[in-house]
Amino acid sequence: MSDLTRPAELRRLIEDSGHAFGVIEKAVETLRDRLETLEPDDEDVVEILRAHLLAIGSPSDVLKLFTLEMIERAATPEQAEAIYVEVLEVLARSPIRPERTYPVERAVVKKLGDKGVERALSALAVLAGREVYPLSRTAARAVAAIVGSTDQDAITDRLKRDDLPEASAPDELSEGVKRALFPQKRSSTKSSQARRRELTRQNALPDLAAAGLRPETDRARQQRLKLIVRGADRDPKRCGNCDQLGPARVGHMVPPSRGGTDLPGNLVVLCRECFRRLPRTRAEAFDEEGAPNAAAPGQLSLF
Ligand SMILES: [Zn+2]
Repeated sequence: MSDLTRPAELRRLIEDSGHAFGVIEKAVETLRDRLETLEPDDEDVVEILRAHLLAIGSPSDVLKLFTLEMIERAATPEQAEAIYVEVLEVLARSPIRPERTYPVERAVVKKLGDKGVERALSALAVLAGREVYPLSRTAARAVAAIVGSTDQDAITDRLKRDDLPEASAPDELSEGVKRALFPQKRSSTKSSQARRRELTRQNALPDLAAAGLRPETDRARQQRLKLIVRGADRDPKRCGNCDQLGPARVGHMVPPSRGGTDLPGNLVVLCRECFRRLPRTRAEAFDEEGAPNAAAPGQLSLF
């Protein structure tokens, strides 16, 4: 019988669960209880810790602080830095809940600034400009630490240097950093319209490709979308079309290319079979009169 507390087994359980919060947290608790027996440089341990830190939105902040500390010990400095950059990029792409303060994520962002990780600069600037406080302020301070200045022109110039992925809007990015570093005094008698505008701006995700971020891999996107589905108390392993439990993919009802968001209401879980039968084109989904095409390979009308 296999020992279910071995790191390799714990990692397999996490992967089999589709990265369920609960399974990740149980695995980290098991690692914590077996701290003395862990081998140094164990890839499986690092992978479990990585999965935990990437589970943005799970509320287990105390356990995550333990994970952060463990990463410093179990991972090489290069591995740790890569995980921090990954966490930052997921954050920059994720809806942020204003009621949470994200202490662990802020600690990660601060580490990137303290370590002077230049490749994190664009994503840090994106996060700073999203006006989700206090996270955005921590990100803006990390930008200033890496650039070595709080001056907006210095930050713009640094974002333009060609050793960074090309940021198409460095002025806009540095403007966002400035806003987060030096917030204007807000009027207490702000109109409800102004407040609504502010909320819309916070929830709108920036054009990340334009900001020079690496394109998201399919695996990372699936993991991130499954976490959003779980965060909305839905099961990312149950097909939303045929109700089967099993390996599934998360897709968008309205595709991002047509303005569809990553909010839970726009996400649909599909098993492999239903995903395969999904009409790929409008012509496949509808007949000439615009009615759903009964002869189409798929009966789903996500268009
Ligand atoms: Zn299905």
